[in-house]
Amino acid sequence: MKLSINDTFNKELPSDSNMENSRRKVFEAMYSFVVPKVPTKPELLHASSEMAHTIGLDENDIKSKAFLNIFSGTEVYANTKPFAMAYAGHQFGNWAGQLGDGRAINLFEVMHNGQRWALQLKGAGETPYSRQGDGLAVLRSSIREYLCSEAMFHLGVPTTRALSLMTSGDQVLRDMLYDGNAAYETGAIVCRVAPTFIRFGNFELFAARQDFQNLKKLADYTLKYFYPELGEPSKDTYIKLFEEVANRTLEMIIHWQRVGFVHGVMNTDNMSVLGLTIDYGPYGWLEGFDFGWTPNTTDRQNKRYRYGNQPNIGLWNLLQLANALYPLLEEAEPFEKVLNQYQTDFESKSLAMMRSKLGLMVEDTNDIHLIKDLEDCLLLSETDMTIFFRLLSNYKIGDVDSGLKLVEEAFYSSEEISDAIEEQWKVWFSSYDQRLRKEELTDNERKTQMNLVNPKYVLRNYMAQLAIDKAEDGDNSLIEELFELLKKPYDEQPKYKKWFAKRPEWARHKVGCSMLSCSS
Ligand code: AMP
Ligand code: MG
Repeated sequence: MKLSINDTFNKELPSDSNMENSRRKVFEAMYSFVVPKVPTKPELLHASSEMAHTIGLDENDIKSKAFLNIFSGTEVYANTKPFAMAYAGHQFGNWAGQLGDGRAINLFEVMHNGQRWALQLKGAGETPYSRQGDGLAVLRSSIREYLCSEAMFHLGVPTTRALSLMTSGDQVLRDMLYDGNAAYETGAIVCRVAPTFIRFGNFELFAARQDFQNLKKLADYTLKYFYPELGEPSKDTYIKLFEEVANRTLEMIIHWQRVGFVHGVMNTDNMSVLGLTIDYGPYGWLEGFDFGWTPNTTDRQNKRYRYGNQPNIGLWNLLQLANALYPLLEEAEPFEKVLNQYQTDFESKSLAMMRSKLGLMVEDTNDIHLIKDLEDCLLLSETDMTIFFRLLSNYKIGDVDSGLKLVEEAFYSSEEISDAIEEQWKVWFSSYDQRLRKEELTDNERKTQMNLVNPKYVLRNYMAQLAIDKAEDGDNSLIEELFELLKKPYDEQPKYKKWFAKRPEWARHKVGCSMLSCSS
């Protein structure tokens, strides 16, 4: 297995001079050198061929002993120096101080086809940033991260990727429900991939400590390798950097809203400076359309990270990043301008996104009402978001009376659909019909367009859980099946049509299928 190694982060930026793997606060450094824990009996459960090819590996490499050794943490790749990053963050709205890679270890950077990729192992053992944790990850959360990051990529959502999923052969103690019933679970390691894993929290760490020298170094490094088009470091370039991060963050969140993805833990340590979805923990997918839904049990009280609040939280997080970058400019106004622009852009981009979900190409000032009325209808009874929008593409102009019938599969309980609800839907279909008459597309052309933005298949929470249950019994076939299915989420794929279905009732309250804790 030959990789084109091209390390920069751990070559150009200051490291922690302490080489011990002991938990501590680390100052005036961006990372600490640390080697992964050697697993007892690593086994490869799955690898992403697409990701492997992207970093210059082929099928034979995936099957090699070297692949197993390097991406399980058994061996360190020649001439590389693994490390854990230092970062801080705001968690659930509160300043949390130093956090850092407590259970992620960066291996190296690879250059392939002109693109830089950083590879890191999640669950490869403790680091100076592990605090009270063990640095390990369990199979259930690793399957969830592995499948979802590749699924998001194929949905066209900016995301970190996954290269491999391995079990370690070690047992990991977890109190899954935080109810005092800790139990041993199968340990696992995911190799994640992204151009860089720098988060908002990396900047916040130095700003909070008034270590402006390192703050500047980090900003300059980010510009040099990931935003070279913005120009040489200067006050003007720093604000352009912030503007670009804000744009990308908004873009990412609009995609989440489009596909019904709820991140669950939008803490600033989980916000990528590249606007990538990062840290797949207690995330979830909307089944019944509901702005108030959050998958994260830890957030059950406040629902800070609920579906409908994600765009606001994006803004709140950007404000924290602005505070962190402020010392580079010492001027508040340019930051305020970008933050205000985010709000304006949110309105227009979210409208454009909803228009595309409805197959509307022409702009019409009344669309905002059509969309609001639709959202009201979707909330009248439990209505599956994915199924609704996919079936809506079958609508034919002039068929107001059969509109509701067309989407009835999306309703969780037909008994809930009272006459009054039916009437409200009819009114909506009637306005939709009128509106479609202003478009130039034929019914068929509109359907094709809509099916490019409304996925047929997403990783429903219960689907991931079924794959987990099987894998825990030693059967990885469902990981493979879901992985294949989710490579083409917008295609009809008739052989997988059983996955185009509402969540079964047994899954409604089952652990892992609707609500998840942070324990992973
Ligand atoms: P998360 O909520 O997964 O984004 O994690 C928040 C912080 O806790 C990060 O600094 C993680 O590295 C750390 N962390 C989470 N789980 C563990 C663990 N099992 N061992 C060590 N650190 C952890
Ligand atoms: Mg995190």
